[in-house]
Amino acid sequence: MSELQSSIQFLTGVGPKKASLLKSELGVETLSDLIHLYPFRYIDRSSITPIAGIAPDLASVQIQARVVNRNLINIKHLSVIVEDASGRMEMVFFKGTKWVFDKLEPGREFVFFGKPQLFNGKLNMVHPEIDAPQEGSYTQTSLTGVYPSTEKLKNSGITGKFMCKMQQSALSLCLNEIQETLPDYVIRDLALCPLQYAIKNIHFPSDSYALEKATRRLKFEELFYLQLSLLKQKYIRSRGEHGIPMPKVGPDFHLCYNALTYSLTGAQQRVIKEIRADISSGHQMNRLLQGDVGSGKTMVAVLSCLLAIGNGCQSCIMAPTEVLAQQHYNNIRKYLEPTGVKCALLTGSTPAKARREIHQGLEDGSIGLIVGTHALLEEPVRFKALGLAVVDEQHRFGVEQRSRLWAKGPAGYAPHILVMTATPIPRTLAMTLYGDLDVSVLDEMPPGRKPVQTMLIGEGKRAAMYNFMRKEIAAGRQVFVVYPMIFESEKTDMQNLEKGYEDILQAFPMQDGYKVAIVHGQQAPDVKAFNMDAFAAGRAHILVSTTVIEVGVDVPNASIMVIESAERFGLSQLHQLRGRVGRGADKSYCILVKGLKVSKEAQQRLELMVRTSNGFEIADEDMRMRGPGDLEGTQQSGLPISLNIASLARDGRLLEEARNYASRVLDADPGLQNPVNVKLVQELRKDKYSIRDFSKIS
Ligand code: ADP
Ligand code: MG
Repeated sequence: MSELQSSIQFLTGVGPKKASLLKSELGVETLSDLIHLYPFRYIDRSSITPIAGIAPDLASVQIQARVVNRNLINIKHLSVIVEDASGRMEMVFFKGTKWVFDKLEPGREFVFFGKPQLFNGKLNMVHPEIDAPQEGSYTQTSLTGVYPSTEKLKNSGITGKFMCKMQQSALSLCLNEIQETLPDYVIRDLALCPLQYAIKNIHFPSDSYALEKATRRLKFEELFYLQLSLLKQKYIRSRGEHGIPMPKVGPDFHLCYNALTYSLTGAQQRVIKEIRADISSGHQMNRLLQGDVGSGKTMVAVLSCLLAIGNGCQSCIMAPTEVLAQQHYNNIRKYLEPTGVKCALLTGSTPAKARREIHQGLEDGSIGLIVGTHALLEEPVRFKALGLAVVDEQHRFGVEQRSRLWAKGPAGYAPHILVMTATPIPRTLAMTLYGDLDVSVLDEMPPGRKPVQTMLIGEGKRAAMYNFMRKEIAAGRQVFVVYPMIFESEKTDMQNLEKGYEDILQAFPMQDGYKVAIVHGQQAPDVKAFNMDAFAAGRAHILVSTTVIEVGVDVPNASIMVIESAERFGLSQLHQLRGRVGRGADKSYCILVKGLKVSKEAQQRLELMVRTSNGFEIADEDMRMRGPGDLEGTQQSGLPISLNIASLARDGRLLEEARNYASRVLDADPGLQNPVNVKLVQELRKDKYSIRDFSKIS
């Protein structure tokens, strides 16, 4: 057996107890597991900073200072004043105070390491690491790795120092057993460092340059295999599935196009070209179309359907709800007027007689375009020749539905598929989540949209805001007022909502002619519908509500969206809420009202909302701030594989590079049969690269 697979319990100082803890806390069992547990940051302990030279925004700093005095304010608060030749500062401890008190005798000198901060205008450090000063050089290396840890591990003596020692012994036992995982030519092409060098330097970097090389190599490898695995599935599919060749444009496309009262945006034109190239290639198209609300996806869908029709096929557009299907149908019918294409609507509530006629029309090919809900997937629906299926909003469209749709293509062919989504998914995330789909982006809004003006105010401006609302209402507009409703704090949220409602009733009294409606999740459905309708029909001026209005409500006459306690909402949610206004002809406003206590991150989020209305920018920023794991609205329950070192939020460019390179490798050797690629095949067999189905439709 190789050393790599042996248990960590035989490392010096580890033993069965620590080993079992390392397994349960970090999943580390073997030496191989251990050396693949990388530091998540590094601290520079090569230099000592004079106290007077400390900037409070430094991530960490090391000082050498003498204890002046110590003051045990209470058992949970110890304050120690230290000084060096340049100045004085305070060290603060809230834990282990007795032990620290005894250790830090006045007059003695120590090395303190930690994060400096300003507190009441004075510099201090909370819970610094404390070491005895050493003669000459202070540290063994300049950069020391910090490993993931838990309270339990620390309490059992598995400290940062202990972890470094374990890594050192593990590496000395088995570093030269580690086999290179990338083919030579890949390493050469991309000027990467060898794996052994990378592993050694990720743990114990000889300098920052070596650390950078090691990091790049390890991140690239991870992203490359991830993309290779996804793209390989795509290659297999595009070779296995014959696409219906659609080389022609056809007359209906031109008839519709020429009758448009506006010109397509550059983004719409580009996407239609991308779709055309796909469907005329002879391969089956599987494309995701992303575009913010209002970016004009419907037009792209209609023109794509007309391309299919121009090649003797039929097409369908599937919406998630009946209301949306109806809306689509109304719009699309208008677009098709100049053409000879027959269009129909099929939903769960289509009467039996009409339904039979539609079934007939689809079978004999007289209906060219069918709009509908999931009813389209049902058994009696048969097409003469379904060439393109458009799915609006991918969320509720799973693998099983996909196969039912594929079965409706002409014999031997799967229809081309276009999935449309308004959820702005950052590009790097889309490349991974939908790695085996092609992604098109409508990143340009049709001209003439008036952007919603966003303002951020505090409690002090409330009276002014009410005045502004009165002015807009007097001009015939309506106002949304939204309160947060978060499950964990439901009770206080409910109280806040009710209090907010009373405030509004006072500021907008009935005797002055104001009508205020309220909607929240705890109301009976008919009460909710009654209030919602009152607002939608213009009978109420103000709708006070929780986020239930986030989806679906369309009230073009509403010109103000007030979001209370805005700091408690996520970015995507704020973006969705803001999208509820700005739908009519009037200038619209979004007013973010922030509470008294707002964290630095929340403040940044709110300022970003004021700065931009670009959904993609907001989504990217959201991912950067929060990490991809809890991106709202994408319904992802994790990533296709767990990334060990690379980050989708930060390593976007490397991900793109990895994807391009993986695609080149597959272009040259689609089956990975060339002997130079034998390592690739071996690596892809590993569990960590077996990918769950995340693209939903692939
Ligand atoms: P979404 O991407 O949200 O589905 P729609 O397709 O519903 O957007 O388009 C929103 C509105 O923009 C529609 O009223 C549509 O007629 C209009 N529209 C679409 N494309 C353009 C364009 N190129 N120029 C002007 N208006 C457009
Ligand atoms: Mg739409």
